[in-house]
Amino acid sequence: MTFSELGLNATLSEAVAAKGYTAPTPIQAQSIPAILSGRDLLGGSQTGTGKTAAFTLPMLQRLAAGNSRPRSPRGLVLTPTRELAAQVGESVMTYGKGIHLTSAVIFGGVGIHPQIDRLRRGVDILVATPGRLLDHVSQGTIDLSQVEIFVLDEADRMLDMGFIHDIRKILKLLPARRQNLLFSATYSAEIKSLADGILHKPVEVEVARRSSAAETVTQVIHPVAKADKRRLLSQLIKKGNWSQVLVFTRTKHGANRLAEQLGIDGIPAAAIHGNKSQSARTKALADFKANAIRVLVATDVASRGIDIRLLPHVVNYELPNVPEDYVHRIGRTGRAGEEGCACSLVSADERGLLKDIEKVLKRPIPVENIEGFQMAEVDGLEDARNTSRGNQGRGRSQGGGGGGGGGGGGGGNRPRGNGGGGGGGGGNRPSRGGSGTGSGGGNRGSRRPRSASR
Ligand code: AMP
Repeated sequence: MTFSELGLNATLSEAVAAKGYTAPTPIQAQSIPAILSGRDLLGGSQTGTGKTAAFTLPMLQRLAAGNSRPRSPRGLVLTPTRELAAQVGESVMTYGKGIHLTSAVIFGGVGIHPQIDRLRRGVDILVATPGRLLDHVSQGTIDLSQVEIFVLDEADRMLDMGFIHDIRKILKLLPARRQNLLFSATYSAEIKSLADGILHKPVEVEVARRSSAAETVTQVIHPVAKADKRRLLSQLIKKGNWSQVLVFTRTKHGANRLAEQLGIDGIPAAAIHGNKSQSARTKALADFKANAIRVLVATDVASRGIDIRLLPHVVNYELPNVPEDYVHRIGRTGRAGEEGCACSLVSADERGLLKDIEKVLKRPIPVENIEGFQMAEVDGLEDARNTSRGNQGRGRSQGGGGGGGGGGGGGGNRPRGNGGGGGGGGGNRPSRGGSGTGSGGGNRGSRRPRSASR
């Protein structure tokens, strides 16, 4: 199957070939013909599947075939984060190089006046985050009445971030007759109701099970006492000779602290999260892509919108509170068919979270014990090393052991990846290939509070 067989014109097929894509990904193969035919589309597609090109390419082709209305956008893409907006904008530019359409990206956190100037000159395709788009609406600097194709990208994340009211406001500003494309990695009742309200007899396209992790990602759990996590992480990185590692923490403060500590351990690292300025985030990501730093520590914000091809290692330093975020996080590796490795450092207090994640995945994640590290049976809030209960030490992955697992029967049932006994088990994580290459597009992610994208 080639791109031109899907109906893409020669200019776009050449642009795609210039990017090095030899064949469409499954989501592209299914979506492109449907979008070209003018149908609405509901895309159940996780990150890293090539969904950006799946909607960008046919949108470019359809808009290029229509009449230009220079002052008002005819294509509108809404994304939850600045970084994803930047990334989609970059795809529009890259794929649309030979096509005479103009585009712009607008998001918060940067001055509004250059955006106003840009919009005044007119754009065909606008990529925006909801908050800043509404700022422009309220200032009268954008007219959405000519939108012919509307894309809601990562709709699930939009809802997570509380953008539903903004989305509804924006929908009211769009003309009734338009083509709608909605993409979501996960599928809740809320998304379903949003989709029902927006889409008209959509073609439904689904690649990979919803809420499932990319098949190319090797996942593993390393049980560890909370207070030993940093030591374990440093060891994994050094012994495994990991060159490009994306590490997730739950809090901004935790991200800063960990990046600092890794630096002290001799591992160059930087933190990115919603409190960092846009320029600091952009620089950190650029340094990471250029291998100037080895580790990027990020909050969940960043889990969307980062596109680094061949990112070999993702580490959950702390499990996310929302199980679906686990899927998004590990979607940062193993992108578009490349192999990746996602490991999670799990302490006793996270057993419940792990159980929830495995429920979403519908399968247990293999456990690999690293010599010298083990889960404390109880791991309180205060990082008390091994806790005062002494050295019930062997904790292993399971709570099962003592049944004690106050953490709720749940934690107990960690599948025990590699067998039994005491300290033993695993050596290190298989160190996966060499360094990743920076490529692809975009920028870093931003965090939940709506203000982050404004
Ligand atoms: P996305 O899911 O849109 O974030 O895309 C994930 C990654 O896959 C990006 O790095 C794209 O450049 C890449 N990609 C998209 N389409 C293809 C393709 N047909 N072949 C190879 N890589 C692709």
